[in-house]
This record gives sequence, C-alpha cells and structure tokens, in this order.
Amino acid sequence: MIVQQCGKQAQPAADGKSTLLLRVCFIILFILTASQLNVPRVSAEGVPVLIYHEVLDSLGDPGETRISLDRFREQMKYLHDNGYTTMSIDELAAFMKGGAAPEKGVVLTFDDGWLSIRDAIPVLNHYRFKASFWIFPGTGIGYPHMEWPEIVEMAGNPNFEIGSHSLTHPWRSEDLVTWAEGKTAGRTLADAAREIGESKRILEKMLQRKVKYLAWPRGVFNERLVEVAREAGYEALLTTREGANLPGDDVFRIKRIFVDGACDMEVFARTLKDHKYYRCQAVRQHAGGTLLQANASSHPGPSSSVSPGQ
Ligand SMILES: [Zn+2]
Repeated sequence: MIVQQCGKQAQPAADGKSTLLLRVCFIILFILTASQLNVPRVSAEGVPVLIYHEVLDSLGDPGETRISLDRFREQMKYLHDNGYTTMSIDELAAFMKGGAAPEKGVVLTFDDGWLSIRDAIPVLNHYRFKASFWIFPGTGIGYPHMEWPEIVEMAGNPNFEIGSHSLTHPWRSEDLVTWAEGKTAGRTLADAAREIGESKRILEKMLQRKVKYLAWPRGVFNERLVEVAREAGYEALLTTREGANLPGDDVFRIKRIFVDGACDMEVFARTLKDHKYYRCQAVRQHAGGTLLQANASSHPGPSSSVSPGQ
C-alpha cells in the first residue's frame, strides 16, 4: 500500500503533504535496500578465532594439536549448518578497529603448516570457508610440513591467507621470550628479532605478496617482542590467549582458542558460545597409576603442555 503510494508520488511534489510522504518513502526504501543487501551487523559477543594444527585421516590420540578428519568435517558442517560466517584476518582486524562483522563470525587458523592440512583443504573449499595458515619458513618446510609449491598454491586461493609463525619455531624449554630475555644460552633479542623479520621477508619473497600478520610460536610474547614485530611491519599479532575479539580490542593481541580434537560436538558448540578452551584430551595421572579422561575442563590460559605444534 505504502509502496504503491510511493510509486504515485514519483511525480514532483508541490504541497507539504506530498513532501512528507516522499520523505517516508525514502526511509522505507533505505530500510528495504539495506535488508536486501544483507548489510553486516556488528557481532555483539565478539569474534572467536579457532586454532587447529594437524587434521589426521588416521588418528591414534586426538588432543590439543590433533583432530581426526571426520571430527573436523563434523565441525565445519556444524559451522555451516548453524549460520556461522568465516572471516579473514583482514576482516577481523577491521572489525576490531570498529568495523562490522557477521552476526556469527568466526576465524579459522591452522598453525605450523603440517602436511596433514592437505586433507582439511577440500573440506574448507567445500564450504568456501576462509582460513589462515601459519608457517615457519626457516625449518618448517618439507616433511612433516608442507612443501613450498603447496604453500604457494594455498596462497593463491582467494579464501586463504598465509602468515608468519616465526622462522624456526623454538619450543620445548625455549621460546622467543626466553631468547629476548637472555634466558636461552647463545640467544639474544637480536635473534628473536631475526625470527620475526626474516620469516616475513622469506614468506613475502616466496609467495610474492605482503605478509601482514604473525602468530606467536607457542603463543608466547612480551611487550618488547610486540614492539619488534610492529617495527618489522606486522599489522596484527595472534596470541593463544583465550576469549573472543571485540571492537576496540588490540589487534596486536588477538585472542585465539584451541580446539581439542578429543572434544565432542557438544563441547565444540560450547566453545563457539563461551569462547573458552576446553581440554578433553586423555591425561595420564601418575598418582595411583590410573588413566583419567579429563572431563572437558576449561583451560585457564595458554597451554602448559609441551608440543612442537603450538
Ligand atoms: Zn606452532
């Protein structure tokens, strides 16, 4: 009815009544156009960033850094069927700086460039999901990690991004912080800075595109390393501090949440809602010699377990 009236009022209006109707028409048209264009709404609860490592076809022991291909497929189907929209790191950073995001936005990250990620890619492509892959080009190329041609091919996928995960991914008893603080013999802040800057340079040279983001190996960093990374030209940094990312949050401290491959779909759904890291991996209790299954306990912060994967 109103739209019909609007059509009739397309003629030039001479009186005040017609002018008012025209104004109402413009407002209605604006609302209709905005809804048809599916203008993104700001996600009130923030955007979770999920961390994956290995996605394995045959799996012995799922856990913090390992998930079966079947469970991974289930999780991606869940995201699709429940209206989640995957976002790139570019889109996440823009959202954190005050931009819009889908109502159910989520970011998928895959650390270390494991060879097994090859099996996850067709699943991501099936849903046209966006994802980022974090490579350490100093020692993380070739078995058991992907080769350059595979990484270059991934970089060519418009839905995928490649980021730095340092140069050699120090682990076990050392990390970039112990290097920077002089707590690792023979390593200094300059060595940590080289890990940050050289990995960017090598990735950019091999991929022929700008590498704007870095995910801290093992999730470990300090204020000085953040400064070094900013000076090296990174525009955002990814941690393993759990929680969702909101407008106004610091893009140099992007929160991420581990997805423990041993958790069931109910826990996965809970992770997406409360943005906490739940540990489900079987843990061996030495006291009494019994093997206990951790009951989807929420983990308070970055993992303390030692894994080359983080
Ligand atoms: Zn890692």
